[in-house]
Parts: sequence; C-alpha cells; structure tokens
Amino acid sequence: MTLPSYPTPRGKLIPGAALAPYTWFRVGGPADVLFLPEDAGDLSAFVAALDPSVPITVLGVGSNLIVRDGGIPGVVIRLMGRAWGEVMKTGELELTAGAGALDLAVAKAAGKHGMTGLEFLSGIPGSLGGATRTNAGCYGRELKDVLVRLEGITRSGERRIYGEGHTPVEFSYRHSDLPDDFIVTRLVLRAAGLADPASIAVEIEALQTRRAETQPIREKTSGSTFANPDPPGTPDQRSAWKLIDAAGCRGLKVGGAQVSPLHCNFLINTGDATAADLEALGELVRARVLDHSGVSLRWEVRRIGRLQPA
Ligand SMILES: Cc1cc2nc3c(=O)[nH]c(=O)nc-3n(C[C@H](O)[C@H](O)[C@H](O)COP(=O)(O)OP(=O)(O)OC[C@H]3O[C@@H](n4cnc5c(N)ncnc54)[C@H](O)[C@@H]3O)c2cc1C
Repeated sequence: MTLPSYPTPRGKLIPGAALAPYTWFRVGGPADVLFLPEDAGDLSAFVAALDPSVPITVLGVGSNLIVRDGGIPGVVIRLMGRAWGEVMKTGELELTAGAGALDLAVAKAAGKHGMTGLEFLSGIPGSLGGATRTNAGCYGRELKDVLVRLEGITRSGERRIYGEGHTPVEFSYRHSDLPDDFIVTRLVLRAAGLADPASIAVEIEALQTRRAETQPIREKTSGSTFANPDPPGTPDQRSAWKLIDAAGCRGLKVGGAQVSPLHCNFLINTGDATAADLEALGELVRARVLDHSGVSLRWEVRRIGRLQPA
C-alpha cells in the first residue's frame, strides 16, 4: 500500500497493521495505519504535518479496550520502546515517567527508591497513558491522587502541560477531561512518603497475589466491563458484579465470549471470540440485569472502531 497522504516520520508507519495482538482481548480488525513514534519530537512533527481530517487514536497496552472487527480508521498511535517506558527519580518523592511505561514498572521503580504510595499501580495491568485517560485506580487510590503534572501533544502537534502550575485536569471515576485527541507523553508522579524498599516489594507482591486469586488476570480480558451503578462512597453501594450474578449471568456465553466464572464483571475471550461476540454478550448481560433488577449498567470498557470492515 502506498501512503501518499501521510508524513514520513523517523519511527515506524505500518499500513493495515493487525491490532488484536496489541490488546488484552486479542480481538478486532486492523488499523488503517499504525504509527510507532520514536520519541515526542517525532510524534509532534508527524501529527503537525498530518492532514487534520485524518482521525487519530492512541492505544496504551489495550487492557481497557474492545477494538471492533472493522478495525480503526485513520492513524493509530502506540508509544512503544525504551524512550516511552523510561522511569526516572527526579526528586526525593518524585518520579518522571514516559506514558508508555507499565503501571507495574512504575510501582516497582518507586519501591526500589523507597517511595511509598504508588503500590496500587501494580494492580493495574496498563500503561501510564491509559491510566491517565481512565483515571485508573484500585484499593482506594486513583492516578489523580499521585499525579503532579503531565505533558502531551495536541492534535495540531503542540506540546502542552497540564497539572501543577499549568491548566488543571478534572478527574472523576475512570474519567479525565483531557481533550479526546490529546496524547499524553510524560508524567510526573509524587509518592506519599519514604519507606523500606523491601517492605514495599512485599506489599506489591501481596497485591499481585490477591489479584490473581480474585480476577481472571491470565485470561484474554479487559478488566471490569461495567461501572458500578453508584459512585464510590455511596452507602450500600451496589456493585456491577453482584447485579450480574443475581441476574444469572455468571459463565454465560455468546460465541467465543464468556462472562468469567471467576469474576462476573469480567468478560473473557475463550479462544475464538470476535469483538462482535464480546459486545453482544455485554449487551445480553445489560438486558438481563435491567430485566432482573431495573438497573441499566454502563459500559466501562471502551469500544472503538468500525463494526464492519470499510
Ligand atoms: C485483569 C485486569 C484488571 C484490571 N483492573 C483494573 C483496576 O483495578 N482498576 C482500573 O482502573 N482498571 C483496571 N483494568 C483496566 C485497565 O487496565 C486500565 O483502564 C488501564 O489504565 C488501561 O491502560 P492501557 O494502557 O491498557 O490503555 P488502553 O486500554 O490501551 O486505552 C484506554 C484508553 O486510554 C487512552 N490512552 C492510552 N494511552 C494514551 C495516551 N498516551 N494518551 C492519551 N490517551 C491514551 C486510549 O485512547 C483509551 O481511550 C484492568 C484490566 C485488566 C485486563
């Protein structure tokens, strides 16, 4: 395929790249073009020179996504490689990390420097870019609680900083108000205090064990499918998994998609699921929960791309 309308970057530009291998569910169609920028300068120059009518989509490690079977139009950007995954100590309690760094790697790096308060990140199997967009969190802490500021690139290729001393970002449950086409490139995070690195490592290990016992983390999945209907902190908060269980959906199947028998707010690809199977199963669960308890569940997993090939 020739790419007459795309600027030439220093990084890789791959037409028709399969995206399923880049997502936890391992489903979905290809990108029109996949772009793997070398660094922030490469990304900014490419985006600035790109026809403004071409849509762009950023992928993290695809742990909160269903890429639909028709693939993603325009340019899909993934921040892969050493430049994007770097984590550096930049203050007594501060770390600066690339948006492609894995949350687990950031938690471990903080621990090695004796910084405590970032351990929760080890429970989230995504990248920092994805964690920022989704305000990821667990065990009572969210990304917003440790973020000092973030840097990124706008759709016109401009570098912009949000956070301390700059434009504030509004975060809410699994949401940030960053512009949809803003690409996070780097973050500064602050730990809560100092502690013994060995005890932080033990804490991270314990969180990982707890996860493995309660969630299907070795499956092709994408975490919680539906948001809990009540905001955190609501007395007698209803949880999505209990409503799904009560509606008899544990283990329910559509094609190769199944409601996890271990944690019924997780959908899994048992091997040969399509994105359409996963979405149809999710909608079936929503319909059964509505019928059983009157609650209309809201998708937490992001579904992106075309339903059918163009
Ligand atoms: C087993 C399992 C357990 C999970 N447990 C939790 C949990 O406890 N808490 C929790 O919050 N989540 C959880 N998740 C969901 C998921 O891990 C998080 O939402 C994670 O933050 C997504 O990061 P990602 O890099 O995979 O992003 P992706 O899934 O690739 O993308 C998610 C969103 O972020 C955007 N995005 C990604 N990178 C960037 C960037 N650089 N700039 C701008 N936007 C970007 C994407 O466009 C997309 O809209 C779980 C998932 C799994 C599979």
